[in-house]
Amino acid sequence: MPKSGKQRRAELVARRKARAASPEPRPAAPISDDELPVDRAQLKPFNSYSGPEWFVRGTYRDVEFRCRDCRQEHTWTARAQKWYFEEAKGVVWGQASRCRDCSAKEQLRRAEARRVWAEGLAKKRARQQEEQG
Ligand SMILES: [Zn+2]
Repeated sequence: MPKSGKQRRAELVARRKARAASPEPRPAAPISDDELPVDRAQLKPFNSYSGPEWFVRGTYRDVEFRCRDCRQEHTWTARAQKWYFEEAKGVVWGQASRCRDCSAKEQLRRAEARRVWAEGLAKKRARQQEEQG
């Protein structure tokens, strides 16, 4: 006997409910907190046949590095790398060079340098206008 429209609708609803109950397939779960999967679709595009070690391996791992300013050993965590390459769209060949504290100081220093430079430029322009006017 052919199914009635009502039966078919009931089956559809049941299937939909079953699907809603089972969780969506999740993106690859972190392997551990110090090794995270690389989501290549999120990376800033780059023209190269190969890529850095983490790219080829497909996971980020904690990396030890020496800060160029304070010369201390620090860890560039897998989590921080994932953020840097996938959210902040950092260049894939980028590497950690400064620790968190030193890069904050460096940012302040650069902002101050920009401010001084802009101020100097404004003064120079004002002087030029005075001379012309
Ligand atoms: Zn440092």
